[in-house]
Amino acid sequence: MLTLGKYSIGVGDRFAHQAKAQVQACILAAKSGVEVIPVWNKSNREHTIIGSEPASVRAAADAAVRDLKWTKPYHVDADHIRLETVERFLPSCDFYTIDVADSIGQPANANAVKIFTTRHPELLGTLSIPGTAEPFTTTPADIQRIIGKYLKAVKDASEIYHKIAWSKGSDNFITEVSMDETDQPQSPQELLLILAALADEGVPVQTIAPKFTGRFNKGVDYVGDVVQFEREFRNDLAVIAYAVKKFRLPANLKLSVHSGSDKFSLYGPMQRALHDTGAGIHLKTAGTTWLEEVIGLAESGGEGLALAKVIYAKALTKKDELCAPYAAVIDIDAAKLPTADEVYEWRSEQFVGALRHDQANPLFNPSLRQLIHVGFKIAAQMGEQYLQMLKTCEASVSRNVTTNLFDRHLKPLFLQG
Ligand SMILES: [Zn+2]
Repeated sequence: MLTLGKYSIGVGDRFAHQAKAQVQACILAAKSGVEVIPVWNKSNREHTIIGSEPASVRAAADAAVRDLKWTKPYHVDADHIRLETVERFLPSCDFYTIDVADSIGQPANANAVKIFTTRHPELLGTLSIPGTAEPFTTTPADIQRIIGKYLKAVKDASEIYHKIAWSKGSDNFITEVSMDETDQPQSPQELLLILAALADEGVPVQTIAPKFTGRFNKGVDYVGDVVQFEREFRNDLAVIAYAVKKFRLPANLKLSVHSGSDKFSLYGPMQRALHDTGAGIHLKTAGTTWLEEVIGLAESGGEGLALAKVIYAKALTKKDELCAPYAAVIDIDAAKLPTADEVYEWRSEQFVGALRHDQANPLFNPSLRQLIHVGFKIAAQMGEQYLQMLKTCEASVSRNVTTNLFDRHLKPLFLQG
């Protein structure tokens, strides 16, 4: 089995121009004493919006790793794929995020639910799992309800996994199962049963992405109860450690946190929990590297700043269209969005201050940041004009990409405490 390292970070790179700057952040982490494996994730939705192919992500990753002499592993993730979208990712990806969120709650075969229940008498009654706050009590009715809700999703994950394994060979890729893009969070008790069912299906899951409580909006901080998150997170870690032994799942199975990026208030609690338990983690960031590109353009001043302003102005005009696919994961206060005319007057520091995620800066504007986050289609439509400007402003763009990833993500999660 191709094995994912203990700590790994999913980095989105919408335009496939920042892979080197991203590897550089992992090199800085390695120099500070912690190995964090880079994984380039790009979903089918992003490829469709931008008009790119998975092979371009692989090419950018390979080139960056070669140029910077990164000798540790790295991976390319077919992010949030389903049976109907996996095909075009098969040649270039070695990491598959199998998204079965849409199958949650779909009716499961009644007989299959019964089979699960008879197969797992050990899950019934009161179960004390080391590391959990309280024991779980599970009745046959609980199993029926939980498995009834998730079994179709597990069966679908199995079908997709076996399709990939048939094509690539089961030893040649990493399997993640994601259930995060849904309304209802999964409790640690539900996670335990889901893992049991995945093991029954022979899915060698190495990372699992549940939905946690609270809001994980794109590119901004967590909105929710941090204390409750930490309790759930620790319970999930305990459940995973237990499930690995009990159901013979891969020893490196770990949580994948689809963070939407920048959940700064959770990094402290997560870091402490990882430190206390010795667990690994996959942190998946969204495409905020794209925001660092725009920051880099704005910071360069002149033509770069001018183009950044045009991107904002166009995004403002197309706000509803750009926000629609992301409605569940953004909270933009339209009243807080400056007009295009105001922004055209801005100096470099004003634009950078509004966009960069520095909560201590009074200029920081989360609504503007989220709008530009979903506005990458505007840059995609600019085509060569945008890509050329990235090259013109490369020094400032790559500095921002590396600094953001290392200082704001890798350091607080892996290097402090
Ligand atoms: Zn996700």
